[in-house]
Amino acid sequence: MAIELANVLVDTQFNDLVALALAARSKAYAPYSKFAVGTAVKCKSGAVFVGANIENRSFGLTICAERVAMGTAVAAGEREFVAIAVTADSDEPIVPCGACRQFLAEFAPDLIIVSATVRGQRQIDNLSHLLPDPTRGILKHADPS
Ligand SMILES: [Zn+2]
Repeated sequence: MAIELANVLVDTQFNDLVALALAARSKAYAPYSKFAVGTAVKCKSGAVFVGANIENRSFGLTICAERVAMGTAVAAGEREFVAIAVTADSDEPIVPCGACRQFLAEFAPDLIIVSATVRGQRQIDNLSHLLPDPTRGILKHADPS
């Protein structure tokens, strides 16, 4: 019961972020898949940046909404992140793909992932659960600072 209550509190905490992500879906460029994804990433500073997927006729060049949102935030000088909302018109809440998990982990390996459908189904996870040990075996001696 306590766990359910905690989930409700966390759920409510991200209502605004989910609303922004849902609105961002309208900006998606998805003429091939017709699968619009909207995201909103909340920075530690309190700023929020939105993103939408951008497809390309050369499918490999398609950019996911998660990377658009965080990339925009990083370009604006943000480096610390709290949560990202990921929304789609799907049967169940979607989570970031493998490439996006690695991209998000560069800045926030413990990022809260709030996934929601347009019909209100919601799921909350943590990037550290979806991508444990993201630096293992990759540029072991690199120091980004
Ligand atoms: Zn992705």
